[in-house]
Amino acid sequence: MNPAKIVPLLLDWFTRNARDLPWRRTQDPYAIWVSEIMLQQTQVKTVIPFWERWMRALPTLRSLARAKPQQIHKLWEGLGYYTRVRNMQKTARLIIKNHQARFPVDFEAVLELPGIGRYTAGAICSIAFNQPRPILDGNVIRVLTRVFGIDGNPRDRAVNSRLWELAEHLVREAHATSAQPSTHPSAISRPKTIANRKSRIANHTRACSQLNQSLMELGALVCTARQPRCDICPVATLCVALKDRRVEQLPNSTPRAPATRRRFVAFVLKRDGKVLVRQRPAGVVNAHLWEFPNVEVANDDGDPRQAARGIFGIVPAELAPLCRVQHSITRYRIRLDAFWTAPDHSVDLSESVGKWASESELHRLPFASAHRKILAIL
Ligand code: SF4
Repeated sequence: MNPAKIVPLLLDWFTRNARDLPWRRTQDPYAIWVSEIMLQQTQVKTVIPFWERWMRALPTLRSLARAKPQQIHKLWEGLGYYTRVRNMQKTARLIIKNHQARFPVDFEAVLELPGIGRYTAGAICSIAFNQPRPILDGNVIRVLTRVFGIDGNPRDRAVNSRLWELAEHLVREAHATSAQPSTHPSAISRPKTIANRKSRIANHTRACSQLNQSLMELGALVCTARQPRCDICPVATLCVALKDRRVEQLPNSTPRAPATRRRFVAFVLKRDGKVLVRQRPAGVVNAHLWEFPNVEVANDDGDPRQAARGIFGIVPAELAPLCRVQHSITRYRIRLDAFWTAPDHSVDLSESVGKWASESELHRLPFASAHRKILAIL
């Protein structure tokens, strides 16, 4: 099947079915970049309020470059993978220094920025600047492997290269045909189907942007991992997986690693209206975020008294269950048991463990997700 055949079908479908997402109302590369970084590992409906809050607080590259670390972590609080937000600030400062505070238009220059890989550079250049740059994420992989009946594991180098080539072919086709006016004399002498295809694509003034977004949108709304809606799919007539009854088998991805259970015990100490918290150091998961003093314990045992001794050097006189938080991050299924404890005045807890924060300060600090759930019930 000629891959180009699906281009006008996707563009027409996208024009009629694209969701009205806030970052689709702009062509500002900064705003699109923020949305793309937030959307990594996170669903659209979760990202919308985060993106809107971020754009109100930090509407420009300059405002991001100037922001305090606590502000950017607080704005990102709940999205996880906090290296992303620190890389964004580095990137904003680099753009101001090396590109006169204008987001670079050149694909290679975008790709050199911290935290921006091939997918994100392609997304920014195609969506913001309508360049014929391909994108390949989980949604696009699912659509392409099914439509073209690609059997191999998308992580294998050869299969992955083929998918990138296909994605590039499609966006270049959208670009080439939309760049020519449909009334061009050459279109008249060509077979009717080709002329029709060009005519339909020519109506899309930002065909590269729309083509890439249509692939992502189709994967998110129609060609989903579970229960794909082949009955309403715009490319069903061309889809190899549907014709060969292989929809459920594709993409042929590596099975996920089994989940690992981890258990933590946390302690909430209150003194004079303030609560003891600590900041996670640099170089660890959730670096720079705040949390209640806690320690990982064995799954089957985990005596909270011994856990408390490990942190405070003493076994607290009082220990009462406060709450249990269940939390998933990557392949880890985390259980966090929180306990109230009475502070022991014989130990200088603030120096050895963290700092005492007032209620208003607690709500200004960025917390790791599981600990934010404890904070919510205090
Ligand atoms: S026909 Fe079904 S499997 Fe094929 S692209 Fe459409 S939704 Fe996906």
